[in-house]
Amino acid sequence: MTDLVRLGPLEFVAFLRRERIRRFCFVYEPDTQRVLSSHPQLQPLAEFIGGDRRDFAAHEGLFFQVTARHDTLQGAFVHRTCRGQAAGGVRYWTYDAVEDYIRDGLRLAKGMTHKNALAGLWWGGGKGVMARRPDVDLENSEIRKYLYSEYGLFISSLRGCYVTAEDVGTSVADIASVFSRTRFTTCIPEEWGGSGNPSVPTARGVVSAMEAALEFLGMGELKDKTVAVQGMGNVGGPLIRFLFEKGVGRIVACDINPRQAEALRQESAGLGLDVRAVSCRDDSIFKEECDIFSPNATGAILNPRTIPLLKAKIVCGAANNQLEDPARDDAALFDREIVYVPDFLANRMGIVNAANEQYGYITGDPLFERHLSRDWEHSVFRTTLRVLEESKKTGVPTGRIAVQLAERLSLEQHPIFGHRGRQIIRSLARDRWEESG
Ligand code: NAD
Repeated sequence: MTDLVRLGPLEFVAFLRRERIRRFCFVYEPDTQRVLSSHPQLQPLAEFIGGDRRDFAAHEGLFFQVTARHDTLQGAFVHRTCRGQAAGGVRYWTYDAVEDYIRDGLRLAKGMTHKNALAGLWWGGGKGVMARRPDVDLENSEIRKYLYSEYGLFISSLRGCYVTAEDVGTSVADIASVFSRTRFTTCIPEEWGGSGNPSVPTARGVVSAMEAALEFLGMGELKDKTVAVQGMGNVGGPLIRFLFEKGVGRIVACDINPRQAEALRQESAGLGLDVRAVSCRDDSIFKEECDIFSPNATGAILNPRTIPLLKAKIVCGAANNQLEDPARDDAALFDREIVYVPDFLANRMGIVNAANEQYGYITGDPLFERHLSRDWEHSVFRTTLRVLEESKKTGVPTGRIAVQLAERLSLEQHPIFGHRGRQIIRSLARDRWEESG
């Protein structure tokens, strides 16, 4: 059993080829609380997943295929579909072992359930994951087109229980390839009637969450505050621009990509932006004297090494999975009396931007803008305040409070379709989905 999870993705794909398996799935049976595999040879892997207490959370169904060319493992992790179709982007990333690949998918899918529920969206939670191979040229547009078109066909075969989107390693151009084979995707290019790149809306949501945290601490508005920004990419760049529009006094920002840093430096000349190009291991940004520390680069950056370095009163940014260990690091921030705005609360606007794109567009769309307002009960601002106040009242760290609230909301059923995702998954299993395609 452990042998399969310890294999590297390449060896695992070779194993699947030997066994003549192209598609396979694991489906959770709530009555027996067991995870069942589509293939007896893979049942040990199903037992491993079902027995895991860290990342497995009764995920409704996990679906996989290996592409005919370039031997790429592609997956769709469906966590919970009470509120609607499982929605979340497709990540294209490198994994050392099958276990890492599966754990990432499980964790990210559950995170999407929480993010979507807390945003009040009628979506469930899911995530796509494709394992990068070192021997596949990522820059080759024909190969990318092929891999993402195949992913589109795979998504179509899942009959709508999972709706994909852009994520790390995937571009809007890749989504165009997905869209050429399935209707079950968002983040479609704008020129084709989609919502395009979600990063600017994501940055707007982060600003709103920062404002709520300041209000909670009685620190007023963003005007004249100092913000330290880690990562100046698709979200960090626009975030810096929005912060200046709000009149912040000073921003210290860093990026490991010197070109990114230089572009922002030039654009913001004279505004009070202190830009640094740093190495991956450079910790200086954590030690900045500032009001808000904003992580907008990679995950797992808050941990026992970095939390003691922080001088900020607030941590609020877009990066996913900022806490290396959610329970431990949430508590550590709380003990240090640093206000941590949970990432899945601050960075929701990307998915909000894509969530209803099939319903058409309105200038200043009220369904979108209410998330950034101060009066709608599910807005970023109001939800952030609610989580922070509840945390203060109960003495429970903010991340845990947000998860509890999100869990409750995620179990509410879609007002029209009920728990249809689970019905779809059952029908896929009954119809032997693994023999399709
Ligand atoms: P991006 O790749 O465009 O930008 C990330 C930037 O961080 C890059 O410029 C990179 O060079 C830099 N970086 C990486 N490691 C660094 C380090 N150690 N120190 C400083 N800089 C570093 O990604 P993005 O789309 O801006 O997303 C940023 C984060 O927000 C990611 O964690 C992503 O998962 C999350 N997120 C993004 C969106 C979105 O709409 N783009 C939505 C939700 C969450």
